[in-house]
Amino acid sequence: MKMEIVFNKPYQTGQEFQNIQESLTSMCISGNGVFTKKCHAFFEREYGFAKVLLTSSCTDALEMAAILLNIGPGDEVIMPSYTFVSTANAFVLRGAKIVFADSRSDHPGIDEDAIEDLITPRTKAIVPVHYAGAACDMVKIMEIAHRHKIMVVEDAAQAIDSYCLDAEGKPKPLGSWGHLSAFSFHETKNIISGEGGMLVINDVSFIERAEIIWEKGTNRSQFFRGQVDKYGWVDIGSSFLPSDIIAAFLYAQLESINHIQNRRKEIWNLYYRHLLPLQEGGFLKLPSIPNFASNNAHMFYAVCNSLEQRTALISFLKMNGIIAVFHYQSLHRSQFHLSKNDDVYLPHADHYTDCLLRLPMFFELSNEDVHNVASAIKEFFDL
Ligand SMILES: *Cc1c(COP(=O)(O)O)cnc(C)c1O
Repeated sequence: MKMEIVFNKPYQTGQEFQNIQESLTSMCISGNGVFTKKCHAFFEREYGFAKVLLTSSCTDALEMAAILLNIGPGDEVIMPSYTFVSTANAFVLRGAKIVFADSRSDHPGIDEDAIEDLITPRTKAIVPVHYAGAACDMVKIMEIAHRHKIMVVEDAAQAIDSYCLDAEGKPKPLGSWGHLSAFSFHETKNIISGEGGMLVINDVSFIERAEIIWEKGTNRSQFFRGQVDKYGWVDIGSSFLPSDIIAAFLYAQLESINHIQNRRKEIWNLYYRHLLPLQEGGFLKLPSIPNFASNNAHMFYAVCNSLEQRTALISFLKMNGIIAVFHYQSLHRSQFHLSKNDDVYLPHADHYTDCLLRLPMFFELSNEDVHNVASAIKEFFDL
């Protein structure tokens, strides 16, 4: 039988169905129900986030962040070019101009040292993206932001259960650094609910308004807590809450988070060991995790030496029944951005656009699968 290794397979713990059934039996299946509150409590307890709100996606959470920061026409927002469109779209929707920074040479994350030169009097926010769940240097970024009095929104879509060392060398969870942060529970992430996301509010001055924006611009949350005697339209907002059925699914995943994370890390380490000879031979580069960052095993990628090599490797793996895929196309070179902005030169972002290759990475991937993927790559390089 021909081997077939898919790129991603969404994992279910087995508890999802039972939670959903419980939610259906309770008849309270709209947003902010029992399971939503359980998820909120989990995140606030486990990661020390000041306040969290589940959303229908990370995209939604980023859009809420842009509304909360009062981003408008004339404002500038700094972010890496090598990221998903939602990181930029959320701010473009409010009329902002996006100022793209390059990636680090050793990692696809934003080059922290490139940020300060891009700051102008119009800069409102910096949006670091923790690529593959490995932290950007948050000590450095928060220091820059503080000095220039600008806000930080972490795009922590891939960064669940990952950490950055603080100034004292203690691990501090990603998502707890920025004034606001956004997570994703899309089926391609470590912890999933099909579609799903979460806004984290670390700057407590944003909490009250965040709840209002979340509840369609009404003070409904305050009403249900008995803080106001009627609720009405008090601000702009939208329907950002997921159904409690989604939260029921998500809560099942959260109950197994350590189990899921441990296996993913095993798979990641196994890939690394198998592929190390290829890095040593100069055939490709393996992920380098900065010394201030942890590894949450969101993704296993390799960086090829050229676009041609990557294209040939993808076809070779496909012929062997293995699906490996490239990732972002730098946003500074996108048709949409170039239709409104000048071209800029961001060589590292372009290099990852051309050369980064993601290997199959999911909970149910067996050790044998990892071995087979690694063997196929070695065969491609005649090793
Ligand atoms: C997945 C992802 C998003 C979007 O998440 P959704 O939940 O699908 O909206 C945004 N940014 C990054 C970096 C991502 O990886």
